[in-house]
Amino acid sequence: VTALIKKLFLAGKMVNVNSELPFDEASEIALEYNCIAEEEEKVDVIEELLKEDEEDEKDMVSRPPVVCVMGHVDHGKTSLLDAIRQTKVTSGEAGGITQAIGASVVDVNGQTITFLDTPGHEAFTAMRMRGAQSTDIAILVVAADDGVMPQTIEAINHAKAAGIEIIVAINKIDKESANIERVKQELTEYELIPEDWGGSTIFCPVSAHTKEGIDNLLEMILLTADVLELKANPNRKARGIVIEAELDKGRGPVATMLVQKGTLHVGDYIAVGASHGKVRAMTNSRGERVTEALPSTPVQIQGLNTVPDAGEIFMAVDNEKEARTISETYISQGKEKLLADTKQRMSLDDLYSQ
Ligand code: GDP
Ligand code: MG
Repeated sequence: VTALIKKLFLAGKMVNVNSELPFDEASEIALEYNCIAEEEEKVDVIEELLKEDEEDEKDMVSRPPVVCVMGHVDHGKTSLLDAIRQTKVTSGEAGGITQAIGASVVDVNGQTITFLDTPGHEAFTAMRMRGAQSTDIAILVVAADDGVMPQTIEAINHAKAAGIEIIVAINKIDKESANIERVKQELTEYELIPEDWGGSTIFCPVSAHTKEGIDNLLEMILLTADVLELKANPNRKARGIVIEAELDKGRGPVATMLVQKGTLHVGDYIAVGASHGKVRAMTNSRGERVTEALPSTPVQIQGLNTVPDAGEIFMAVDNEKEARTISETYISQGKEKLLADTKQRMSLDDLYSQ
């Protein structure tokens, strides 16, 4: 180092041990010392993240729908999700379903639906907006005894801005004061018009308490998914989104991630915003250890160096170095820029500018 600094100094360059030289210059000096400099491969993090994933149609395979439940506080979102999970618990698993990772996968006559738990009503915030971005179908829960409320309208706006298919679940039909027709009437104002009124929106009367209509709702979700022809290429490096993440005392950073394309494996190197790491262990929505996760599958992973933000995009890369470079570049480039670019590319400006 001293020799190099001296040399450069004599050449009129004021450098210190931390200075960077342009590659050409470094390469010339290296030659004087009988060395051949090799340029470090630069990863353009944004390019890499947003590289247009031109997928060949022939590689695309159908994938399960990813569904979120939205609606006004107390209209029964949590109850409905619980009811769905319960009806789909086979006797052998009764009581054994741990729903610990912020997402669940239910099996409906051999077909799969992935449900994302939406965060509490207190935050119709970035997280939920990001939630929308990871979702194919939104179940809009409207209580039959309460009708359209402010957060109902917010939910409609978010789903529409994100281009998400809406299925209306009119909940609490077991209640004496339930008025299904009134809810339908109120929603026409937001262009959610039932099929029997000449529109194209699916309305499912349900009761999270009596479980009436739950099977029909699940069938309607699968029907909608069929129409959407949801597909992804499972044979590529994984890409997806962080649903939630936290620091676990024993396990370190743990993150629930939804795989959106490709297959995530234990052992894969991943970059997630400012975090990176190697997938050390993966758990599915039932709390079982798994070694790989296909598109539309939520998994909780261990092995990241820090806790990533919910809504962050993750990508599997070739090696440790690439993962680290991406996260470091991400940090140095600043989130703002990355998010700005991401937003634009994903055409979600509308969603975020609400
Ligand atoms: P969230 O805030 O949308 O998640 O709503 P919750 O699931 O917490 O439900 C709010 C309240 O409505 C709770 O007291 C539930 O027991 C009740 N509730 C939810 N679904 C039904 C239903 O189908 N019928 C009746 N009668 N009550 C319900
Ligand atoms: Mg709730």
